[in-house]
Amino acid sequence: MKITFHGAAKTVTGSKYLIEVNNSRFLLDCGLYQGKRKDAYEKNRQTSSGSKNIDAIILSHAHIDHSGNIPSHVKNGFRGDIFCTSATRDLCAVMLLDSAFLQEKDVEYVNRKRERDGKSLFEPLYTKKDAVASMQYFLGMSYNRKRQVLPGVELTLVDAGHMLGSAHIILDIDDRDSGRKTKLVFSGDIGRSNIPIIRDPQPITQGADILIIESTYGNRTHPPYPESEKELKRIVNETATSGGSLLIPAFAVGRTQQIVYTLHKLFVNKEIPDLPIYVDSPMATRATDIFRLHPEAYDDEILEFMLEDKANNPFGFEILKYTSSVEESKVLSSSDQPAIIISASGMMEGGRILHHLKNRAGNPKNTLLITGWQAPYTLGRQIVDGKKEVKIFGEIYAVRAKVEIITGFSCHADREELLAWAGAMEKKPRQTFIVHGEEDSADALAEALHEKLGFESIHIPDPHQSFTI
Ligand SMILES: [Zn+2]
Repeated sequence: MKITFHGAAKTVTGSKYLIEVNNSRFLLDCGLYQGKRKDAYEKNRQTSSGSKNIDAIILSHAHIDHSGNIPSHVKNGFRGDIFCTSATRDLCAVMLLDSAFLQEKDVEYVNRKRERDGKSLFEPLYTKKDAVASMQYFLGMSYNRKRQVLPGVELTLVDAGHMLGSAHIILDIDDRDSGRKTKLVFSGDIGRSNIPIIRDPQPITQGADILIIESTYGNRTHPPYPESEKELKRIVNETATSGGSLLIPAFAVGRTQQIVYTLHKLFVNKEIPDLPIYVDSPMATRATDIFRLHPEAYDDEILEFMLEDKANNPFGFEILKYTSSVEESKVLSSSDQPAIIISASGMMEGGRILHHLKNRAGNPKNTLLITGWQAPYTLGRQIVDGKKEVKIFGEIYAVRAKVEIITGFSCHADREELLAWAGAMEKKPRQTFIVHGEEDSADALAEALHEKLGFESIHIPDPHQSFTI
């Protein structure tokens, strides 16, 4: 058996590993590499060569850095099955389409400039049509239902607690060349305990022969989640008292639903006043519809809340409104009535949040609440770093609103949680591969796995490096 680490090797983006065994070739994840435009375009294009020879794809979850290059492979001739949970399949139906829309828009922008300069035009990495065509290859599975996916390869998906539908991938491989049975576990992205809506990550107590583990926060710890709920309550109340509005830029899938559900709970328990709440993001509205369809992936707390709630809907209540039309969004952004507005994008790089920022960032009565990691050079990062003037749509705006940050909503396990998850394995892996982390994080996790858990033979693969098992 051979494993090649094509993406998310010594970095956090473009998750993709090729496994060759019993004359089959299949991918674990098929993510989009995200980075500087030109670099990303080249990398994503190259990695989809050879798509015709891939027999199957097994997907850990729907985030674009894990699923976003599937349409390129289908465009280049992939015709196998794509195995994942049903919730991941449904989220991919909207997320891949949205990704294609962004690819097309991005190339359109680049081509306008190239046309003016008399240069040849680029093609988008994939189109909306390619994204739709990809969906016919998906096969949704339930958690904990073992099935054969290729000759001598059995797959079980167990809950990874990272986003709706996220899974750890367990492969029971009967390697006919070596005559050996191998249990390979790929962690996917590992979630956190006690975060809203989804269950905690499920430890794999039986252990593994080969472990591929993520290391996003291999060298960091987060505050426990319950503190974040208290923080949100304080911030809503303080903003209401000052007569201002609360702006929450949030990723459309996952973070928005966590915040909506938490506000719902606080409202039902009369812990926050009845300030009108708006979710102003078409993508968030579509994603929320999918969350409603998958109660099988909810944790006990939200199930209990849902079954007691008269509305029967954790993501909808009387003071919350999902805006639909652009007109409605415009009316909202030009109003100065106190409100809570949740909108995308999470790093304030585009989307309707920019219109709200433009109109409300200058008022010291308002609060801007940041709940996610902000990449370097984004508008979000500039605001977190305390810049008092920022550029929005090419014009300078003052930031006088109060800026608050809550880090506990993170959906990635921290160092202690990664070690607890790996430490639950009764059988220690014969070989461990550390992926999906910057080098500092991966090194720190490797050291801890060895020193604290006694793991041996730990590798941090380079991009495209292969190992024969
Ligand atoms: Zn993820």
